[in-house]
Amino acid sequence: MKTYNEIKLAQELIRFPTVKTEDKGIMKFLSRKLSSIGFKCKIIKSEGTGPKPALNLYAKFGNSRPHINFLGHTDVVANLNNWKIPPFKGVIRKGYLNGRGSQDMKGGIACFISAISTFIKNKKFKGSISIIIAADEETTGLGTPAIIKYLKRRGEKIDFSIIAEPSSNKSLADEIRIGRRGSMNGIITIYGKSGHSAFYGSYINPCTALAKIIAKLKSTSLDKGTKFMPPSNLEFTKMNVENLSENVVPQSASAKFNVRFNSKHKSSSLKKKLNKIINTVAKKEKCKTGIEYRVSGEAFYTQSNKEVYMVKNIVKKITGNSAKLNCRGGTSDSRFLGSIPRLELGLRNNSIHMVNEKTSISDLKKLTKIYYNILENYFKWKLV
Ligand SMILES: [Zn+2]
Repeated sequence: MKTYNEIKLAQELIRFPTVKTEDKGIMKFLSRKLSSIGFKCKIIKSEGTGPKPALNLYAKFGNSRPHINFLGHTDVVANLNNWKIPPFKGVIRKGYLNGRGSQDMKGGIACFISAISTFIKNKKFKGSISIIIAADEETTGLGTPAIIKYLKRRGEKIDFSIIAEPSSNKSLADEIRIGRRGSMNGIITIYGKSGHSAFYGSYINPCTALAKIIAKLKSTSLDKGTKFMPPSNLEFTKMNVENLSENVVPQSASAKFNVRFNSKHKSSSLKKKLNKIINTVAKKEKCKTGIEYRVSGEAFYTQSNKEVYMVKNIVKKITGNSAKLNCRGGTSDSRFLGSIPRLELGLRNNSIHMVNEKTSISDLKKLTKIYYNILENYFKWKLV
């Protein structure tokens, strides 16, 4: 059975210029690599940013439980001008692998595929390993949900997932993400009654109601935060009143907001809470309301269970770091994994999305070792 070297594989992946949801042959390449070490591969399409669909990959080795999963994305952001070393060459120089995606996150994908290939070659175990690779994490974010839908249809259950996003800060594996805040956008439209501003009593001004609603929402505490997440926060990002006249009270006024919320809330209960505040104020002001929401991700949090501590111990053994468990950072495809226990652990993020993105070769080697040890420990009692 073949094994894959993480450095060589990372270089090969960087050479596919997979900006936005462009495939450029990368999923076929990965399917070939994974098929030849025993994985069953399935390409799952989702809507792309251009005319072509995005191609996402689900690959699975084995059929029994427990089922451990690795998740990554092959798409990269642009920002491709003024590089010292061409972004899609995968050049190694002075101990660093250079190129777009080296940290975010083709490097991480190469590490887990390398670790898995060695594990499968060395050990016989009971259980299964799967890989989810999305082609659109940086843009549309439809690939991972499409794969999750496919798994649900087939009744497939993942027991634990590792998201190989670059979670490390100052040194490899100094931080492990065990959750993320949720994010939800809202638009409030307040309808009053327009009229001449000189005739008090003949109009209902929606601006007054909207201002009171904003003040009320901003002064209401949503919660006090959790051990790992700060208090939820609602921020207004736009206010709009269509009105060309100075002496006409407008018919309607609207405002947009974003809420970053912690694991004390689900978007559904948060919507109810906000609706109640908004409608109570509006009613007092004799206005009608329209409220729309778009949820970009629910908050999630994995209890520090035995898998989390197992990973923490492995990190300590390989890097010397006592990894901090936290919920920092922006959103990732991890948000689509529902209630699957999971953590994010990957390369450093100090040059992601920047010009001259690069990762240290020794980090790639260490991360592969970490993933290998996780597999070995995860299946410890299941080795046959
Ligand atoms: Zn990423």
